Amino acid sequence: MEDCLFCRIVAGEIPADVVHVTEGTVAFRDVAPQAPVHVLVVPRAHHANAAELAAGDPAVMSELVSTAAAVAAAEGHEDYRLVLNTGAGAGQSVFHTHLHVLAGRPLSWPPG
Ligand code: 5GP
Repeated sequence: MEDCLFCRIVAGEIPADVVHVTEGTVAFRDVAPQAPVHVLVVPRAHHANAAELAAGDPAVMSELVSTAAAVAAAEGHEDYRLVLNTGAGAGQSVFHTHLHVLAGRPLSWPPG
């Protein structure tokens, strides 16, 4: 989708601090980090949210999680939080599936 921010990052049209790539995913640092490690893992193909990705390409949905684990390990963290905001009311602001990987500080529960 030409007007999708994360499609444009995947295509290299908008710069990002990419930390990991796989066949189906790209992982890059969040521009407004909420923890010492805050990386977004996105599918290369456009899917609006996690449920759409899971229905359309379950293998890449799985790849998002394994990429997140690889990112956390590479950053030196055994403990990390994965977040998939779904819908504006839940805090989703970019409608291209992205898995937040957060680590490096105590993460309280419940989230805000
Ligand atoms: P959401 O609120 O949709 O769950 O998460 C979107 C995330 O994308 C936010 O944490 C926001 O800081 C991040 N973000 C928004 N625009 C950009 C950008 O241009 N580059 C990067 N690297 N992250 C972005």
